[in-house]
Amino acid sequence: MNAEIIAVGSELLTPHRQDTNSLYLTEKLNDLGVEVRFKCIVGDDLEGLTAAAKLAMRRSDIIIFSGGLGPTEDDLTREAVAEALGLKLQRETQLLAKLEERFAKRGMKMSANNAKQADILTSAAMLPNSLGTAPGQWIAGKYDGQERLLMLLPGPPYELKALFENECIPRLRARIPAQYIATRTLKMAMMPESQVDARVAPIYKTYTDVETTILAGAGEIQLHLRCRKDSQTDAEARVEELAGKIEDEMGDAIFSRKGETIEQIVSYLLQMRGMTLATAESCTGGLLAERITSLSGSSRYFLGGAVVYSNELKTQFANVPKALINQHGAVSREVAASMAEGIRKRCLSSYGVGITGVAGPTGGTEQKPVGLVYIALAGEEGTQVVERNFPGDRKRIRQFATQQALEMIRRALL
Ligand code: AMP
Ligand code: MG
Repeated sequence: MNAEIIAVGSELLTPHRQDTNSLYLTEKLNDLGVEVRFKCIVGDDLEGLTAAAKLAMRRSDIIIFSGGLGPTEDDLTREAVAEALGLKLQRETQLLAKLEERFAKRGMKMSANNAKQADILTSAAMLPNSLGTAPGQWIAGKYDGQERLLMLLPGPPYELKALFENECIPRLRARIPAQYIATRTLKMAMMPESQVDARVAPIYKTYTDVETTILAGAGEIQLHLRCRKDSQTDAEARVEELAGKIEDEMGDAIFSRKGETIEQIVSYLLQMRGMTLATAESCTGGLLAERITSLSGSSRYFLGGAVVYSNELKTQFANVPKALINQHGAVSREVAASMAEGIRKRCLSSYGVGITGVAGPTGGTEQKPVGLVYIALAGEEGTQVVERNFPGDRKRIRQFATQQALEMIRRALL
């Protein structure tokens, strides 16, 4: 079975509000073995909503509306669905009495516009909404000879979730044959998406029953594997087999198999080896320390560090010789190495990290363009420095730089 979600509300078409209900619904539908094939956002406009409803009824087995069930003029979902399906709206007197009672309990008189929340589509089952005034509605029937399931749910996320959980999932379970889903997330750092895909696509393409998607972020590639079968064992076996083959191909480029972040992996490795870390950051302004300390318990391996933006503080806090900065410039291989070694020495840590670069958008030169970053890792076995030219804006360049540092720490600890 496939589904379509229609998120209703003009606010969802502005830059200020995001449709999050459909993300929740997609996750729950996937758990039931239902694929979401279409999502659509429609403003509070009767014509647009009616057209969207008609289209959805033609192409999707399950159609879920979110929002537009409130009492105001612009809440038009009921009317649009009635129009699209050629159904009538009937005012439920019992429901109306309940609404009035709800207001009376709070010492308020119900205004007239609230009454339309008691309008139920003919042939619809009413889904009680314990958290709000507008009930949900459920219609199961034929449309142009096709079996269709239609749900109208309120927009406020907490109401929608409770209603879907309590009323819709049991009804859907009774109609949908049980399906089991297994998933795996494999993560890699500092590899170009095209390179990863060139190596893994020939493998996952042979597993047509496992859906594989690649998500690329700044310095991180994620491979999401997902398989649906009649039994959990079968589904697990298939994703496990494919994950195993991808791991054979990519080797230790894969840093995470269960969805862990690179911070978590670095944390785990540092603790396992009983090692500690200190950082000296220039262009990342403490972002690396922020990422490392975002994990509870990081005090066990992260000693601290310094944000050394000015040349003076590079010397004062990270022991970088003044002459070295004068000779090579603050953004240089030599200074990055010296920052890593200096902070390691000052903090008495097993490893020291030094990051210096041009995050932009200003400050770039021909020799040292925006995006040029040196990342150094100093340890007992010596110091390594990586020179990178990161693409993107300031935020992305800084994210890339910290990702590179975390990847270098991870590899050193392997
Ligand atoms: P409505 O049921 O259309 O009156 O929606 C009530 C409120 O719920 C809106 O003002 C939004 O803040 C929120 N809301 C509606 N639809 C969504 C959605 N798809 N995702 C997240 N929030 C929503
Ligand atoms: Mg609305």
